[in-house]
Amino acid sequence: MTENTLQCPRCGHHNTTDSRFCNRCGNPLVADAAAAVVPPSQSASSKSIISLILGILSIFMLGFLSGIPAMILAKHEEDEIRQGRSPVAGEMLAKLGFWLGLIGTILSGLTVLIFLLLIFFGLGIPFFINF
Ligand SMILES: [Zn+2]
Repeated sequence: MTENTLQCPRCGHHNTTDSRFCNRCGNPLVADAAAAVVPPSQSASSKSIISLILGILSIFMLGFLSGIPAMILAKHEEDEIRQGRSPVAGEMLAKLGFWLGLIGTILSGLTVLIFLLLIFFGLGIPFFINF
């Protein structure tokens, strides 16, 4: 009887049912042992997606409040992709998140600057004259 053995698909060796790899040639016998060798999902990491969302938010409403976190997160993600710890699929998203965050931060910085200039040169002078 060969019921209690796992036959190796490569060399035909009969292994005990609890073995994950062939005792003779090392071929993976269990489906998940073979799957473990294949790299995990290659879709973009959530970090790169979040940096993109923060970048978009910074352009449309939050400015540097989400622009700066978007840039930091995107830089982290780019480092991790370069070191192979994060899927390459997220690279474009992280780059986009970084630039959107930068633009949003600059735009909101300019808005604050113009606002301050208006206060100093527009509203500030009459304010002092009135007193
Ligand atoms: Zn084998």
